[in-house]
Amino acid sequence: MSQREFSSNGTGPESRVLSPESRFPELHPALDAHAAAIEANRCLFCYDAPCTAACPTHIDVPRFIKKITTDNLRGSALTILSSNVLGLSCSRVCPVDVLCEGACVMVRENYKPIEIGRLQRFAMDRFYEKPDPTWTTPAPVTHAEKVACVGGGPASLACAAELRRRGYAVTVFDNRPLPGGLNTYGVAEYKLRPQDSLREVEMIRSLGVEFRQSLVGESLSLEEVEKEFALVFLGMGLGTMERLGIPGESLPGVIDALRFIERYKTSPDFRVSGRVVVIGGGNTAIDAANAARRLGAEEVHLFYRRSEREMPAFKSEFDRSKVEGVRFHWLAQPTEVIGFEGRAAAVRFVETRLGDADQSGRRVVVPVPDSQFEFACDLVIPAIGQARLAELLEDTRGISAKNGLVVVDRPTGRTTNPRYFAGGDCINGGREVVDAVADGKRAALAMAAQISS
Ligand SMILES: Cc1cc2nc3c(=O)[nH]c(=O)nc-3n(C[C@H](O)[C@H](O)[C@H](O)COP(=O)(O)OP(=O)(O)OC[C@H]3O[C@@H](n4cnc5c(N)ncnc54)[C@H](O)[C@@H]3O)c2cc1C
Repeated sequence: MSQREFSSNGTGPESRVLSPESRFPELHPALDAHAAAIEANRCLFCYDAPCTAACPTHIDVPRFIKKITTDNLRGSALTILSSNVLGLSCSRVCPVDVLCEGACVMVRENYKPIEIGRLQRFAMDRFYEKPDPTWTTPAPVTHAEKVACVGGGPASLACAAELRRRGYAVTVFDNRPLPGGLNTYGVAEYKLRPQDSLREVEMIRSLGVEFRQSLVGESLSLEEVEKEFALVFLGMGLGTMERLGIPGESLPGVIDALRFIERYKTSPDFRVSGRVVVIGGGNTAIDAANAARRLGAEEVHLFYRRSEREMPAFKSEFDRSKVEGVRFHWLAQPTEVIGFEGRAAAVRFVETRLGDADQSGRRVVVPVPDSQFEFACDLVIPAIGQARLAELLEDTRGISAKNGLVVVDRPTGRTTNPRYFAGGDCINGGREVVDAVADGKRAALAMAAQISS
């Protein structure tokens, strides 16, 4: 899709060529050594470390921060990596306000929490400037059983790294040209740049993990995988975005949020102009709306069919998009994308009200009669959630799936076929990078234990 397709009139801010750095300055810029030392010295090093308990990968936060205070940055990075091999991306993308920093005792005392995310980034950036050979040298292969990881996102990367460091030969299969999953293609650029995601991939490759590009289930069947590998980890994430299911959504000028984000992350000259409508109320909708503003859109309007109170996006993400200038419209549901001269030119909405709660506890959305209105725009970005990936499991190999998610034994990640384990978005329906890392690591430990038993 060309830049022209997203331009309303070919003039305006889209004609400015901005570097990725100026389009997407980092959300939390790096601390310098002096600022890091001051921040690290604010930490109380609590004996019960609620920050560590709040982290799904249980990074020993007081320990890595203490090492920063003594300028032992190598030790600090190794403390992080030993719990979370994707410590670099997690330091940038984790919603720290609801995880480690949200649990910091300083908050209870009405002080600013320790900036754990930025301190973690400080230690990880130093590590990647000069990776430590004691960490990156491949461990000898000491087990005959080989392991396959399907999908190259955070869940598989964590599983692969953990097993490889324990002496297992591991191959990661991903269908895309670049591994890293949503870290490479999906997470907003102002949080994580593709090159930073790929630095982690390269570090994991340096541990001795093999990467192959292949769509498992199509170019390579699970039966073929089973012939070569003793155990298989499924970390294939979720599928494409859900469709709106309304007339006109296939018109040019409609692009779902995942494709939109992937497009700008992989095309440096990608621009947007005019008036953009984003449909949805989650973090992905917010990411797309913020990006559209940064890419040159004069106006970005986000429509959500419930109210602000029900919006699933994190408050910090919502607050940020208000600063970006995104405008919010509550209680409106799209009913049609209206075309003009062959492309999207407006969206027809109906106003909604909230009825009683359904079985899931969410209040149902009720269209208000005779309340339709049209909203003119140049680009429509639906962001109403990712579909669940059931296709790979259609010939199930004895792997049970429920509502499109792989069913696992939670503590181990083992599926109903003992040769298969799973983790990340394909079991939880879409959470955070750090949850996928925790799942991958847990499954790796269970796989190693199963092989050794
Ligand atoms: C737009 C967006 C923004 C997000 N922002 C954040 C954020 O700021 N912070 C945060 O913590 N989390 C964020 N998340 C969530 C986070 O990205 C995911 O929870 C995490 O990436 C899940 O990891 P995963 O390994 O389970 O799956 P994925 O990252 O989706 O990786 C799965 C990989 O498997 C590949 N694959 C699928 N099927 C096959 C197959 N059959 N054969 C081979 N390969 C296959 C896919 O192409 C993909 O590369 C965001 C998600 C989205 C959609």
